[in-house]
Amino acid sequence: MDNQTKEQRHYTMSRIRGKDTKPEILVRKYLFGLGLRYRKNDKRLPGHPDIVFPKYKTVVFVNGCFWHGHEGCKYYVLPKSNCEFWSAKIERNKARDIRDRQELEAKGWHVIVVWECELKKAKRDETLERVYKSVTEKTVKN
Ligand SMILES: [Zn+2]
Repeated sequence: MDNQTKEQRHYTMSRIRGKDTKPEILVRKYLFGLGLRYRKNDKRLPGHPDIVFPKYKTVVFVNGCFWHGHEGCKYYVLPKSNCEFWSAKIERNKARDIRDRQELEAKGWHVIVVWECELKKAKRDETLERVYKSVTEKTVKN
C-alpha cells in the first residue's frame, strides 16, 4: 500500500469486511432513531445485505470504497505493489456485487447502496436523509 497516504491506508485496513463496521452502525442507528426496524446481515438473501427492511422490501449495502471498487473515489487507490492481484480481486468483488444486486431485484427487492465516503462528516447528514427517504418511499403493495 506504498502509494497510499496514511489516511487512505488506515481507511483501507479498517475496512476489511466484517460485521458491524462503523459506517454500518452509523446508518442503522440513524434509521432506528427514525423508527425503522430491520434485520442485520441476512444470510438468506444474495450478498447478505448489511441492513434489511422486510416491511419496505428494501435492502441497504454499506460498501467500503476500496473493497467494492468505488470508481473515481479517492479511497479507491490500488496499491502499486501487487497491483494486478488487487485489481483482479476488486474486479471479482464488483462482479459479485452486480450479480447480487440483479438477483435481489429479480426477487422484488429495492436495493440501496451507500458508499463509505458518503458517510464522511461533510456528506453524512445528506446521505442519511437520502437513505431514509429511499427506504420509506417504497411501500409493499400486496
Ligand atoms: Zn467512495
